[in-house]
Amino acid sequence: MSARTCFVGGNWKCFGSNQSIDALVSGLLKADLSNTSAEVVVAPPFVYLSKVKEALAGKNISIAAQNCWRESEGAFTGEVSPAMLRDIGVHWVILGHSERRHIIKENDELLKKKVEAALKHGLKVIFCVGEQLEDRKSKRAQEVVTAQLDACKEHIGCWENVVIAYEPVWAIGTGEVATPQQVQEIHSMIRRWFEENISSSVAQKIRIIYGGSVKPQNSTELAKNPDVDGFLVGGASLVADQFASIIRSTS
Ligand code: PEP
Repeated sequence: MSARTCFVGGNWKCFGSNQSIDALVSGLLKADLSNTSAEVVVAPPFVYLSKVKEALAGKNISIAAQNCWRESEGAFTGEVSPAMLRDIGVHWVILGHSERRHIIKENDELLKKKVEAALKHGLKVIFCVGEQLEDRKSKRAQEVVTAQLDACKEHIGCWENVVIAYEPVWAIGTGEVATPQQVQEIHSMIRRWFEENISSSVAQKIRIIYGGSVKPQNSTELAKNPDVDGFLVGGASLVADQFASIIRSTS
């Protein structure tokens, strides 16, 4: 693990109810995170954002939205704008998650506008990239990830408020975690991309986190990689003890 402050995000996806979220939050409040300096963020579904934010105030856990729209307001039924998220005190947003790229069919064209709008409104962005299984099998993983980074490069003026999440699609929610070698290979390639396309200083500072079936059983090993600066956790973030243990493993 590097000198960069580690970052651990919990993506609650489309899971939860008032009752289960109360239980999860109460587990997080009880969790011992005193020995970790990691920056921790959880992303509940939109309708629970305010409630979770209030409940976790004082615990040093920030709140992320799982998505946002590309405009500040307008006739866009069903969308939530970055300005609205800022208005309710949300500081982070996840953009480019593979479930939005591949199930909702969000493409690079839309994503770069969303990233630009989110940053313009003062949100920090967890920007997800990652290849699908067929890309990996045909040895195109690096090409796919590079293309996803290239697509938004012109639309990000300042990278200070961006965290990159490398999430191979074949490892998300499947229980099939990428090996530490596979993860390090892509993370170092991403850092090289920053070196060559943005600047050395950004390359050194930007946090590159891994997501894809991270569990307490595999996080310590993954966290040893020099270019792994933390994790984006799906399933295990819905269990307070597991999430807390993953956070502690980054110390
Ligand atoms: C995710 O949703 O970003 C994710 C990595 O999910 P999981 O940890 O369940 O694979």
